[in-house]
Amino acid sequence: MERTEKPLIGILALQGDFAEHLLSIEAVGARAVEVRYISQLADLDGLVIPGGESTTIAKFNETSDGTIFAEIKRLALLGLPIYGTCMGTVVLANRIESLAGEATSQARLGIMDIAVKRNAYGPQKKSFEAEIAIPDLGEEPFTAIFIRAPQISSCGPKAKIMATINDSVVMARQDNLLVTTFHPEIADDLRVHDYFVSRMVAQSGYRKAESSTLDTLDTLNFSPELAISPQKR
Ligand code: GLN
Repeated sequence: MERTEKPLIGILALQGDFAEHLLSIEAVGARAVEVRYISQLADLDGLVIPGGESTTIAKFNETSDGTIFAEIKRLALLGLPIYGTCMGTVVLANRIESLAGEATSQARLGIMDIAVKRNAYGPQKKSFEAEIAIPDLGEEPFTAIFIRAPQISSCGPKAKIMATINDSVVMARQDNLLVTTFHPEIADDLRVHDYFVSRMVAQSGYRKAESSTLDTLDTLNFSPELAISPQKR
């Protein structure tokens, strides 16, 4: 069936720079909504996990007995398009490593075939901008802004590398999952958001009608008090 209305993109709005993503998503012609409750996830055509602090999101997950990550993961496996920026890259990765390369136990969705090292370029004051080539977005270089960025230390065969800087991967896609270790939402360039909406969400076979949360919420022993809410902590 052809889509007749603009897709609805949820921006996970627990923490981080969700407001900037919301504006970018609207600017590329989709509808955007801040997502704070698990029940909102079922209505979405796509989800953005913004930049922020991955250990904080891991704590929210702990507070909800793992329900937030479990539900996002379930929808991702059904095909929900998800775009993770910086922190979102860490959350999607199936392996989070220390700088020495040892696996850590930090909670994550673990659905993308990448390993990441958090804060691998150094602290906040080592933030930097770089002009990078992203062939899928055209010839014009992209001004990529890195803020306490993770490094994608390895990329498995399922993940397609879309951009690199000094041989390290900074943008990758695996089917319905997209990650950038940089922050296009604060750059004056909408091409990454446009790619997500027009090339991933609009061309997705994902159907939200098949994705009622009811069964899962039952299995996960969902309690409405555990809905994602920043006030919970
Ligand atoms: N270093 C942060 C983390 O690992 C991510 C930083 C960001 O999203 N800008 O959670």
